[in-house]
Parts: sequence; structure tokens; C-alpha cells
Amino acid sequence: MSRTVTVLGSTGSIGVSTLSLFEESGADVEIVALTAGRQVEKLAEQALKWRPKLAVIEDETKLAELRERLAGSGIETAAGPAAVREAAERDAAWVMSAIVGSAGLSPTLAAARRGAVVALANKESLVCCGPSLLRIAAAAGGRVIPVDSEHSAIFQVLQEPCRDKLATMTLTASGGPFRTWTYEAMRAATPEQAVAHPNWSMGAKISVDSATMMNKGLEMIEASYLFAVPEKQIDVVVHPQSIIHSMVEYADGSTLAQLGPPDMRAPIACAYAWPDRLPWPAPKLDLAALGQLTFEAPDLQRFPAIDIARQALKLGGHAPAAMNAANEVAVGAFLDRRIGFLDIAASVRDTLDRLNGGWDLTPGGDEVEAAMMIDAGARRVATEVVDRLAAVR
Ligand code: NAD
Ligand code: MG
Repeated sequence: MSRTVTVLGSTGSIGVSTLSLFEESGADVEIVALTAGRQVEKLAEQALKWRPKLAVIEDETKLAELRERLAGSGIETAAGPAAVREAAERDAAWVMSAIVGSAGLSPTLAAARRGAVVALANKESLVCCGPSLLRIAAAAGGRVIPVDSEHSAIFQVLQEPCRDKLATMTLTASGGPFRTWTYEAMRAATPEQAVAHPNWSMGAKISVDSATMMNKGLEMIEASYLFAVPEKQIDVVVHPQSIIHSMVEYADGSTLAQLGPPDMRAPIACAYAWPDRLPWPAPKLDLAALGQLTFEAPDLQRFPAIDIARQALKLGGHAPAAMNAANEVAVGAFLDRRIGFLDIAASVRDTLDRLNGGWDLTPGGDEVEAAMMIDAGARRVATEVVDRLAAVR
């Protein structure tokens, strides 16, 4: 029997990899909905190929074009953020959450609320609202399976019966395109240089996060929430080959790691079939051809974002949500060439300092609503900080 699936963010890097995996594996899927932000042509092309019941474009100005492109196909169309959320509410057993940024939170929650299996690539929703999202999914009888390669690795090697014997979790990081650059060279780095990741082909936002290593910061928070592990038990090691995707060390001195070529279709396949395995013509790991795997400590001077995220995680409450929002604003400004590369981490720190604990001054009650309020408030402050930096540039 075919499995009903929805892909949120189908036109992005993860969305495309998900559809590619379905094709390569021959998985028997029936697509309920595909959603995209602005890329209407690509969405229409995917819809005509995959024949979902519904195709949604977030940008309302693109709805007429979507309708035109899908005319006569019998595929239902809709637009706007509410329509994206409604797509996630439709009855698909498995939902790929691959929208970028905290814009993915509301649709991801919608899928979790109705008990779907949520394959979670959208790390920002977890950073913004992790504990509530996981609680909501569990209460609805569904589950959240991580797609982020590091968390997929940990998910695969974590042995539930001896969770209390876990010593540390180590997230591997490629180090990004500026791993060997000097601080001065990083100051002048352009968006083109920042998005040219050495190992992974990804969307622009996560590529910049990899270059600042805020990606690893977001992933520490993601790991802490997903696996209920405190900040002090989470380590980061730079591993430029991106073959070991992460590891778990137990109290008896044994470390378990998960390895594979850097191809996101592998963690997506894991999230699709878990606890089974999905056969597909995956690229093979050839250790002899690789020759060596190397490791180094992250340089916290050149990559302060790791420490900023650690601080936010230690502060707790909605500090990670505020940090995430500030980072989204700063990365947007850098990609628009309004601020420099080093200004990204600096403006995130400045925003958190200005908020000065203000992320917890929210009315009690709905945790999700509170996180969204913090997200909006932090965006306003971050925009002021970024505007000031842009003005003196
Ligand atoms: P991307 O930019 O390539 O794609 C993002 C998708 O979301 C696109 O389909 C886009 O149209 C859609 N979108 C953008 N803004 C939207 C909005 N406001 N409302 C609705 N839809 C919107 O990004 P990506 O690289 O595929 O990453 C997606 C998510 O997965 C991110 O959270 C990222 O951190 C995470 N992730 C990606 C990778 C990777 O290899 N690309 C690895 C791990 C985690
Ligand atoms: Mg990752």
C-alpha cells in the first residue's frame, strides 16, 4: 500500500533531495501536498511530475502564475502562509519539514499536532520551540525524526536502554568554507564565497550558517532538545571530510559513530523508513580511497557563533528563539550585502545583549505563542542593530 507524504519546502535543497530519493528508491508514495516559498516555476514542474492533491506557494503574488501553470491538471492550488499551514494539516502520514527559518514552525507544528511522522530538517523550528514541538508530537501519538545529518547520526547510535550511561555527544562540523581563512580575510568575505560549501550543496541560509559555524550552534541546541541532553555534555569537533556525521560516547569509554558520504538523501532515507531501512542506489563509502579522516578543535575566536549559541542554551527559556531570529535577520542582511561577514555573529550578540533577558518577559500560557512573540520582538531589535551596522559600512 502506498504511503501518503507531504513535502514542505519541496523546491529547496532538502525538498529536491527528498523527491530525488523517492524516485531513486522507487518508494511507493502518494503525495498529498507540495509547498514552496516563491519558486513557482519549480513548484509547478514538481507538481506536474508528482501529481500531489495540493500545491501551495507562500508568496501570494505568485498564485495566478501557479494556477496558470497547473491549469487542467486537477491539482488544487493555494497561496499564503495560512495555506502552507493548511497543507501540513492535510492527512499525510509522513511530512518532510524542509522550509528554511522560523517560517517553518507553524506548518511543522500543524503536522505534529495531528500525529504525523515529522521528518525534521527545519532546525530553526526546533531551536525556536523545541520542547513544545516535541511534547505536542508525542501527545498526538506522532514522532519527530531528525533529518539534520548530525542528529540523524546520533538518533541512529543512541541506545535507549542505556541513555543514563551517556557521557558526551560530539557533533562533527566540516568547518565550512572559511575553516583555514584568517580573521582579516573573513572580514572581506562575500556572499558568493560564504555559500560555496566544500562538502554539502545546501540552501543559501544554512550555507552562511555553516560559514559562521552558527549552524553548529543551532545544532547544539537542536541536539539538547531532541535528545534531552544538557549543554555541557555536547561537544563540537571539526572534521573537514564530513564522513563521520556525529558520535555518542558512553560511560564505559565506548564511542559509537555513524558514517557515510555527505549526501542528505541518506538521513532522509533513514527518517522515511525508520526503524526499517530504505534501499536506494546510495553512493558507497570508500574509506581506502579517502585515505584519512582528520579532526581539529573549532577556533572559537574566528567562529564566536558557537559560544553565542552555547550561552543561549545555558540561559534557556526563549533565549535560543531570540538568538535564532537575530541570526536570520543578520544572515539576510549579509546576503543582501548590507553588512559584512563578521557582522553576522557580532549583531546576534549585540541583539541578545540589548534584549538583556527580555526573552523571558512574556505572559505565561501558550509556549508556542510566546516563542513566536519572542521571534518577532528579536527580529525588530536585530533589524535596528543591522541597520546601524549597514549605515556605518
Ligand atoms: P532552501 O533555501 O534550499 O529551501 C527552503 C525551502 O523553503 C524552499 O522550498 C523555499 O521555497 C521554502 N521557503 C522559503 N521561505 C519560505 C516561507 N517563508 N514560507 C514557506 N516556504 C518557504 O533550504 P534548504 O537548504 O533545503 O534547508 C531547509 C531546512 O533544512 C533549513 O532549516 C536547513 O537548516 C535545514 N537543513 C538543510 C540541510 C541541507 O543540506 N540543505 C541539511 C541539514 C538541515
Ligand atoms: Mg547538519
